[in-house]
Amino acid sequence: MRTNCESLNGNRSNLEKHILRTLAENQDFNAYMTYINNPKEHFKNFIRDEVSHYITERFEDSVRPKMKNNIKLLQQQIMSAAHESSKHVKEINGNTESWLLHFTQQLSGVLVFSVKDLTGVNHDDVEVRFLEDVIKKELPSIMFDIISKFSTETFPVKLEHKYRPDEILIDHLCQCCWVQCPFCAAICTNTIENHDEDHSVPFHRNNGLNGWFYRGTTNLAINICTSAVASNGSFYPNSSDDTVPWKEYRKGGPKYASWSITPDLSDLPYWKKPFTRYQTYQKN
Ligand SMILES: [Zn+2]
Ligand SMILES: [Zn+2]
Repeated sequence: MRTNCESLNGNRSNLEKHILRTLAENQDFNAYMTYINNPKEHFKNFIRDEVSHYITERFEDSVRPKMKNNIKLLQQQIMSAAHESSKHVKEINGNTESWLLHFTQQLSGVLVFSVKDLTGVNHDDVEVRFLEDVIKKELPSIMFDIISKFSTETFPVKLEHKYRPDEILIDHLCQCCWVQCPFCAAICTNTIENHDEDHSVPFHRNNGLNGWFYRGTTNLAINICTSAVASNGSFYPNSSDDTVPWKEYRKGGPKYASWSITPDLSDLPYWKKPFTRYQTYQKN
């Protein structure tokens, strides 16, 4: 699925590009707000949607053949476990019980069952040599039955939660830092969830996205963090009248101090006008 699905075949940053594109295409304001206010939730929803589309669209040519293949492999494993058990019982001169025990032990890694599940087998009446024959005879039709019931609806439902493709992908793509820049809400790109070094992101955004506005106005801030921290202006880190110079943004408090925002002067010419007009702004 990852090979065939562009949004899921890279890291979280690659996924985010697809998320931003989809947000722009759909123009769904609520989804956009979830992305800003609760990015992890939005990423999870996006992954679930992508997986669900994939299963629906590629069921016949990609999903079903894979499932069929897995069932065939399982069938082979069961057959060979039955054969091995017969060999083992012969060697130790064992009985039905030792056959069943050996059989279930060999399959413990691929099937969830134990000797208790085979209580229907009457140990006294069954001869060991018949057990392998029964498996050989019955298994193909059981497997055929399972394959014929495959569908887009049953596929994810039948899987245990931790084996669902969307959950595996969420685990894979979402175990990283989710701390957002206190100014622009961009998500830290560190791949470790609780890292020691400062949070950072290669691209910051307009601060207005996160609700910052110019004090005394209703205008959302259009400054970008990297150019702001290179400027001579200042900001209000809280509702009081205390300002913090942008160049010393870390003094704004712990959530500012834990971020490394590199001043990028190349943005300055573009942002020069708004800076001269509005020197200070605050978070609502
Ligand atoms: Zn930022
Ligand atoms: Zn981080």
